[in-house]
Amino acid sequence: MPATGIERRNKNYINYIGGKWTDAASGRSFPVHNPATGEELAAVPDAGRQDAARAIEAAHHAFPGWSGMAAPERARLLLRARDLMLERKEALAHTLTSEQGKPLTEARAEIEYAAGFVTWFAEEGKRVYGETIPASAAHKRLLVIKQPVGVVAAITPWNFPAAMVTRKIAPALAVGCTVVLKPAEQTPLTAIGLFQIFEEVGFPAGAVNLITTLDPAEVGREVLENPLVSMIAFTGSTEVGKLLMRGSADQVKRISLELGGHAPFIVFEDADVDKAVAGAIASKFRNMGQTCICANRIYVHESVLESFTEKFVERVKRLKMGNGLEEGVHVGPLIDEQGFKKVSAHVEDAVAKGAKILTGGRSRTDGIFEGGHFFEPTVLTDVQKGMRILEEETFGPIAPVIPFRDETEVIRAANDSRSGLAAYFYSQNMSRCLRVAEQLEYGIIGVNDAVPAVPQAPFGGVKESGLGREGGRQGIDEFLEVKAISFGL
Ligand code: ADP
Repeated sequence: MPATGIERRNKNYINYIGGKWTDAASGRSFPVHNPATGEELAAVPDAGRQDAARAIEAAHHAFPGWSGMAAPERARLLLRARDLMLERKEALAHTLTSEQGKPLTEARAEIEYAAGFVTWFAEEGKRVYGETIPASAAHKRLLVIKQPVGVVAAITPWNFPAAMVTRKIAPALAVGCTVVLKPAEQTPLTAIGLFQIFEEVGFPAGAVNLITTLDPAEVGREVLENPLVSMIAFTGSTEVGKLLMRGSADQVKRISLELGGHAPFIVFEDADVDKAVAGAIASKFRNMGQTCICANRIYVHESVLESFTEKFVERVKRLKMGNGLEEGVHVGPLIDEQGFKKVSAHVEDAVAKGAKILTGGRSRTDGIFEGGHFFEPTVLTDVQKGMRILEEETFGPIAPVIPFRDETEVIRAANDSRSGLAAYFYSQNMSRCLRVAEQLEYGIIGVNDAVPAVPQAPFGGVKESGLGREGGRQGIDEFLEVKAISFGL
């Protein structure tokens, strides 16, 4: 498994605290499985509060030294880590696919994307500029400086086991924060691979710490209650995000949240239908539909409904499902039993309420699918309000296609959600493109573009999809405090 020379004992990988590889204080560990086969890949420590407290303490101790380093020095270490990530792209991608399920081509792209955040923030860290402000009196001078917030607890999800880690850790480290990372319990091995790299390039002890756990709520409590943690950077479900937001109120901790989405994907009558079909495939089926910006509701103007649907279904039928480690596979397994059950329940609910299946619609356990959590890429039509598929994030390869008549109606439907992360639409009419982009209540808009997330652009949501932005110039501000200094001469 992780072919990166990671510290391991037999099949067990261990945590990284204060510059040392270490077991959980309890000695407990838990298994990591391949979602395509059910095979046990390895075991990792099941850290508890005590381990979390040690990691936080280590990060706290490392903070003065790390934040006191010159930004270009921190950038040099980050860029060395970036270089090693790219050198080990193949091994890291293999680990990522083994524990997460996405096809290898996507896993390779994710390692590059993850490395892209390191590059971007290493450079941005050198540009944390202050200000001078004209003072109110002749004998005074006013300065504004920006400083790292302190110890950051980063909690990351399983759908992007590499990129969500670097999108948080890289800006934090670049500006001088120290970090405790808790990756998702389903996908800790990619994170361990990254930490092996951090150790090799020589980050000072305690600057970056890693703990894995099967009891995130317990580690979460330590993160919330330990006053040494200044900030929580979280990507995951809206439910857990709200819990962390409530919990962080007691100490008024800084918090950034990337939560669930429910992305509308709109095809207007003036769209290039072929491009819209290709975009819908890319947006809906990437990572088996398990990204928070995946198209969740596909609205198609009635005048192009037939041609869009026919071409879309034809493309969906050609998607090859299987073990992501095999070249040529487009769609892998769902992450676990829980994810699988939600997808099945959404399809059952829709069909029971009158939806029709145009292709797919079944789970698969036969032949090569045995042991995995596979659900066929599915297209649904006759989808109505009141079906779960239109109200909730499905996080799976299910595409409901819904006809609409006019712009006002579809914008209202698209905005009729408590989520506001990503929205997409296809149109060749320039004034409509700007008009609709302005009216959609979402943090990220793809206009004739199904893949809008890049390191240099701010990523984040409005409404219940989150707080703050990751990536872009804005992504670094989350980790900085602003200090005003008034000088009397
Ligand atoms: P999902 O349902 O997609 O797995 P979660 O929000 O449960 O999303 O998980 C995202 C991350 O949040 C994971 O790292 C998970 O371990 C962590 N997590 C889950 N529950 C808690 C909690 N109560 N406190 C802190 N972190 C949590």
